[in-house]
Amino acid sequence: MAQVLAVPDRGDAIAGTIIESVPEGWWYSTPLPDGRRVIALLTDADLLPAEAERSARWHRALEATVHLRTAAGEITVDVEPALHRADTSVLHPMVGERWCAIGDAAAAWDPLSSQGVVSAVLVGARAGRAIPDLVALQELESDVHLLASEHGALQAHYYGLERRWPDEPFWHRRQT
Ligand SMILES: Cc1cc2nc3c(=O)[nH]c(=O)nc-3n(C[C@H](O)[C@H](O)[C@H](O)COP(=O)(O)OP(=O)(O)OC[C@H]3O[C@@H](n4cnc5c(N)ncnc54)[C@H](O)[C@@H]3O)c2cc1C
Repeated sequence: MAQVLAVPDRGDAIAGTIIESVPEGWWYSTPLPDGRRVIALLTDADLLPAEAERSARWHRALEATVHLRTAAGEITVDVEPALHRADTSVLHPMVGERWCAIGDAAAAWDPLSSQGVVSAVLVGARAGRAIPDLVALQELESDVHLLASEHGALQAHYYGLERRWPDEPFWHRRQT
C-alpha cells in the first residue's frame, strides 16, 4: 500500500527522485510538474496502523527519516495522506474476444521498479498493432507474463540489497 501526500515543493537542491528504506517499508519522493512534491510511504496492508492512527503515524515516521524529511520540509500534521494500492499484479486472462487489457489494468509493478509508465506505453503500442488479431494479443499476454517473472527476479535482487532489518516483516517477506 502507498500512503501518498502531495505538498508544495520547496524547490531546493533535491530536485530528483529520492527513496529511503525504513523498517516498515520505504519512502518515495519526487517533484511534480505543477510545483508540488509527492511524498509516499510504501508498506504492506497488514502493517498499516488502524485508520484512526494512520495519518499521525505517517507524519511521525516521516519525521524519523534521514533524507525524506529534508525534501518534504514542514508539513502540517492535520494533512492526511491518501491510501492507494501499490502491489504487483498480473491479469489473467489479459485478452479475449473484442477486448484486451493494457497498462496498469494488465500488469501493475512494484513501485520500486519505476516500470509502470514504460510498460504501459510499450504494451499499449504493441496491443494497438496487434488488434484485432487474437493470436497476436495472446502472444502479447505471454510476453507480459515473461516480463512479470523477470520483474520478480529484479525485485528480489533490489530488496535483497537492504540488509538492516532482516526480521522486520516487510523485509523478511521480500528476502526469503
Ligand atoms: C504516486 C505514484 C508514483 C508513480 N511513479 C512512477 C514512476 O516513477 N515511474 C513509473 O514508471 N511509474 C510510476 N507510477 C506508475 C504509473 O503511473 C502507472 O504504472 C502508469 O501511469 C500506468 O498507465 P495507465 O495508462 O495504465 O494508467 P493511467 O496513467 O492511470 O491512465 C489511466 C487514465 O484513464 C482515465 N480513466 C479512468 N477511468 C476512466 C473512464 N471510466 N473513462 C475515461 N477515462 C478514464 C484516468 O483518468 C487516467 O487518465 C507511479 C504511480 C503512482 C500512483
